[in-house]
Amino acid sequence: MKIVIMPKVGFCYGVERSITMTKELINGNYQKPFNLLGMLVHNNIVNDELKSLGFNIVDINNLADVLNNTNGTFITTAHGIKKENSQMIKDMGFTLIDTTCPIVLNNNNKIYKYYQNNYDIIYIGKRNHQESNVIKEYVHLIENENDIHNLNISNNLIVLTNQTTVSIVQIEYFSKLIQEKYPNIIIDTCICPATKERQQKVLEEVKLHHNQLDKWIIIGDKLSNNTKKLVEIIKEYTDKYYFINCIEDVDNLDILENDTLYITSGTSTPNTFIDEVIEKIKKK
Ligand code: SF4
Repeated sequence: MKIVIMPKVGFCYGVERSITMTKELINGNYQKPFNLLGMLVHNNIVNDELKSLGFNIVDINNLADVLNNTNGTFITTAHGIKKENSQMIKDMGFTLIDTTCPIVLNNNNKIYKYYQNNYDIIYIGKRNHQESNVIKEYVHLIENENDIHNLNISNNLIVLTNQTTVSIVQIEYFSKLIQEKYPNIIIDTCICPATKERQQKVLEEVKLHHNQLDKWIIIGDKLSNNTKKLVEIIKEYTDKYYFINCIEDVDNLDILENDTLYITSGTSTPNTFIDEVIEKIKKK
């Protein structure tokens, strides 16, 4: 068995930054309890560790209730926070630690600017994801072809943007369809470099390596959008792939002696978990 680890596995810059900022609070002079405004990142291993360190996850959808019933310090997730929610927290006198990934923040600021300049903003993203929830009032969210079909915009000012972790394949496909419907649309899409590089490399390699003996292992949480996008890219070329969510999933791998395993991961997958999975695979 040969193992090929794809470049760029494990945490991206934004996830690493968010986790580091959060853990640093433990040694700072901040009021407890520490309240995470949702899952810090979409990975249960990370969230379980934070819970064990004393961080609570509070319900961002009932923020007013939460603020009336708890004290302490509030921490945004890497996916951002609605402007009105951050204002509410500050207005009630709480400390807010903003760990939003700067790439998400830049993208959202760009969207606010277009909105203020009277643009209709078409946004390729995932419904009910925290990143898209932050700006959903300002955009037409597109998740599938039907959403494109249902668009009815008469404004001459239209721009196409996206959630930072959608797939390059999805952006390309939807952009084409949307441009056919609105030929004058401004295309201002932006996939975060960490996601894009990972997806491009996986796409290049899976195009070359998808025969009987090539198997693909994607390590990450089922809640992670960018991990699921890697799965989507890979399954276009092969059905010989495994999505490893927890260490027990390794038991179900069907690996033969002459196989080559290509290993990739989402941007919120801890490197320690990737190492653990690889070690267990080697022992199979
Ligand atoms: S995937 Fe990209 S946008 Fe998301 S947290 Fe990581 S660096 Fe930021």
